[in-house]
Amino acid sequence: MTFSATILTLYPDMFPGPLGISLSGDALARNVWSLEARNIRDHGLGRHRNVDDTPAGGGVGMVLRCDVLASAIDAAVSADDPRPKLLMSPRGKPLTQSRVRELAAGPGIVIVCGRFEGVDERVIEGRGLEEVSIGDYVLSGGEMAAMVVLDACVRLLPGVMGKEASGHEESFETNLLEYPHYTRPREWEGCSIPDVLLNGNHAAIEKWRRQEAERITRERRPDLLER
Ligand code: SAH
Repeated sequence: MTFSATILTLYPDMFPGPLGISLSGDALARNVWSLEARNIRDHGLGRHRNVDDTPAGGGVGMVLRCDVLASAIDAAVSADDPRPKLLMSPRGKPLTQSRVRELAAGPGIVIVCGRFEGVDERVIEGRGLEEVSIGDYVLSGGEMAAMVVLDACVRLLPGVMGKEASGHEESFETNLLEYPHYTRPREWEGCSIPDVLLNGNHAAIEKWRRQEAERITRERRPDLLER
């Protein structure tokens, strides 16, 4: 079963962009997932294919029209399409690894990318869009946020990562950040790899990694330990 992604954007040429490279690009070429980027402007109004208008109540910027966006969504998504419909939005629920896991386990995603000041509120409700944020900062459009969501999902699809990576617990899976990694050379600029990692005692290595993960999480993200 192919994980199917449909993106609604004013800039379809931005896709696949970085998703066409490396892990996600190889998986795309192997049809582990599919990507369709559709231009919202195809549903724009009049000779100039207008998609936006000034905000009701006044203020700066422009707002994506609900009628235009709804017809773009309706043309892309049939009524029985089981895929969740996301709207990238700084107001949305912050994306988490557990939401990524749920999305990756499903049939795919439809992602609406906002631009300008945002989108008319009525289409969010009217088409049941789930607002998702990738962090507490403001981007100029939803496209890069959509790529973040897709990259995080695609790497979890079966057969995308080698077995070494897919089985093991990474940052956020355990509410802990990951322990430090080392590789050759053993000595570099006067710093050596911690002895415990070199003596082959797997129980000791496991314990050290756990302690380091806890220390780093306490120092950098104490909020994760309280969850
Ligand atoms: N006026 C809005 C910001 C609009 S930014 C506000 O103050 O909330 C334009 C578009 O970029 C948004 O519609 C959204 O699709 C996208 N975007 C910006 N920041 C984002 C974030 N942190 N996460 C997800 N999408 C974001």
